[in-house]
Amino acid sequence: MATVTLDTLRKEFDNGRIVAVDDVSLDVADGEFVTVVGPSGCGKSTTLRMIAGLESPTSGSIRIGGEDVTDLHARDRDVAMVFQNYALYPHKTVRENMAFGLRMSTDLSKAERREKVDETAEMMGIEELLDDTPGELSGGQKQRVALGRAIVREPDVFLFDEPLSNLDAKLRTTMRTEIQRLQDELGVTSIYVTHDQEEAMTMGDRLAILDGGELQQTGRPKDVYERPRNEFVGGFVGSPSMNTLPVVASGDDSGVTLSNDRVRYDLSGERARRVADAGVEDIHLGVRPEDVRVVDSGGIDTVVDVVEPVGSDNYLYLDLGPDFIARVDADVEPAMDDRIQVTFDERDVHLFDARTGDSLL
Ligand code: ATP
Repeated sequence: MATVTLDTLRKEFDNGRIVAVDDVSLDVADGEFVTVVGPSGCGKSTTLRMIAGLESPTSGSIRIGGEDVTDLHARDRDVAMVFQNYALYPHKTVRENMAFGLRMSTDLSKAERREKVDETAEMMGIEELLDDTPGELSGGQKQRVALGRAIVREPDVFLFDEPLSNLDAKLRTTMRTEIQRLQDELGVTSIYVTHDQEEAMTMGDRLAILDGGELQQTGRPKDVYERPRNEFVGGFVGSPSMNTLPVVASGDDSGVTLSNDRVRYDLSGERARRVADAGVEDIHLGVRPEDVRVVDSGGIDTVVDVVEPVGSDNYLYLDLGPDFIARVDADVEPAMDDRIQVTFDERDVHLFDARTGDSLL
């Protein structure tokens, strides 16, 4: 059982002046696909490199399949890593690149190794490339070879470090599907690092969101999207980002009004109770662009600053706050400077404590 357990894993650099990974604990189940996502510098790569054994933790521990591997050398861990820059040997052929890891990590005969490489190459659709060197391959082909090299070793755990970042958008989409298919077929426990929230939302069973070295939230993509634990996660997950408006709460648990000089929104249900119970006055009201609707009457008055067509939808930039966007159907097309009214359902309202950023829901 190749579970991966990180227990208060910490990595400091520069004599503690940089805390790259700040006491991260995470359990990855056998066969699970977890995507670690966060902005640049949040500690994703360092976390992955510690799991691979390429970086040693300052404190905390790593277990793979129940075994404490914290002090084990990288080559003694049964993990295979796929890198953004492919990390192929330039002077070896594709076949030699794939076979190299096998020679290092198993005691198979030459014929058996050859057979395994052939099988994997077929699975990856790269049989034709086996005699080429990396210099003769496109970016997509190189990444396929790098994946093949990881797969052929039949490791307990796959580690992916932004493997698709160097590919163009179309190829990235194809490769995403392919990696998911392979992971599903092989059932190998996988940890996939990316800074791209869209990639993270579409790949993997579970997300682990990092910021400033700290784990912010873990959960299924849909759950994280619907119930972000704090304002950072709410803003990071989803595109365009969640709108947030600073408001002040007044009222009691039978009804709460959230207002500022441009917005007034009445809460009456569960959310009113939550705000009243928390006794917090300064709140950031979050609402996703896709949850904002244009209505004829009874909504919040606003002015359209910009209309940005994006294919099937229009993004309306409204003067409710900086970069406040309503994502509406393309046939809703007000002109710039038009006065319109917008609304959103109470169930789509997110509420964050303005001071701590924590969700009140
Ligand atoms: P990116 O997506 O930009 O690669 P990341 O989320 O993977 O970012 P890390 O590369 O893990 O982040 O870096 C986390 C923090 O640790 C950053 O502040 C980085 O500058 C710092 N850091 C990483 N490696 C070292 C090192 N060898 N020496 C000093 N600081 C480092």
